[in-house]
Amino acid sequence: MNNSIIKKKYLKSMKEKVWNNEERNKKVSIKLSGKKKTIEHRKKLSISHIGHKNSENSKEKNRQKQKEIMKNPKNRLNLSIKNSLDKHPQWKGGISFEPYPISFNRKLKKLIRERDNFKCIICKNIGNIVHHIDYNKKNCSPENLITLCRSCHGKTIHNRSTWRKYFNETK
Ligand SMILES: [Zn+2]
Repeated sequence: MNNSIIKKKYLKSMKEKVWNNEERNKKVSIKLSGKKKTIEHRKKLSISHIGHKNSENSKEKNRQKQKEIMKNPKNRLNLSIKNSLDKHPQWKGGISFEPYPISFNRKLKKLIRERDNFKCIICKNIGNIVHHIDYNKKNCSPENLITLCRSCHGKTIHNRSTWRKYFNETK
C-alpha cells in the first residue's frame, strides 16, 4: 500500500470516529471555550494553513454563518465599536484630523498638478488629488507632493512603505 492510500484510510477513520462524533465535539468545545491559544500555537496553526484552500461548500457555509451573525444588531454594533477609532487597524493616531499647514493651499496644489500635467502618476488618468509621499501633512515641499487620481489615492492608504518607495523611484 502506498502512502496516499494509507493517508486516505486514516483520514476516513478519523472522520468517522473523531470529527463526526458529535458527543465528543461538544465535550471538546465546552472544554476549549474561553481558552485562548498561545502565540506559538497560533503561529503553528497559521503555518499549517498555508496553501490550504476552503472548498466552495465550506466557503458558502462560512458566508451563511457570517450573514446570520450580522443579522443580529447587537453583533453589528459590537463590530462597529471594535473597528471604530483607535481600535481600527488603519488608525494612525488621529492624523487625518490635523489641520493642513497654510502652505498646503489651492495654489500649491495647482502648481503640483500643473507640474505633473494634471495626470495621475500611477494610471495617467486625470488626477485631482495631491498626495504627500511621506504621509506627513506638514511636509509640503514640492518633492514630497505628487498628483494622483481618486482611485489610485485610495490604494495608497494601505502598504504605505511600499508606496513611499514607489513614488520616490518614479517621480
Ligand atoms: Zn490613478
